[in-house]
Amino acid sequence: MRHRTASSGVCPSCQHQGLLQRHAIRPCWWRDVPQDGRPQVRRGHIVRWRCPACQQTHSCVPEWALPGKRLTRALDSWVREALRTGQSARAVARGCGVDEKTVRTWGNTS
Ligand SMILES: [Zn+2]
Repeated sequence: MRHRTASSGVCPSCQHQGLLQRHAIRPCWWRDVPQDGRPQVRRGHIVRWRCPACQQTHSCVPEWALPGKRLTRALDSWVREALRTGQSARAVARGCGVDEKTVRTWGNTS
């Protein structure tokens, strides 16, 4: 897994490696593993960077977040495990607070 720090990284557009300028920080939240039968969210920040070489901006999510989804990596594993052990999509969806339809397609990916 590629590790990003607050001060340096690799630009996905031009592969520039080095310091990326912090452009904006936006608070955000991701769905997390339920606790005591209640859906949880985990709060964090999306950091937007500007590459000094190509001037493109890029978003960087926390490393515990699943890229491209509003979910934590832990919740992703949790849902996969729940489906694998035979829990119904409806029960899983209710447990973690996501759409039942989302959970159904979840089991089909990977
Ligand atoms: Zn760049």
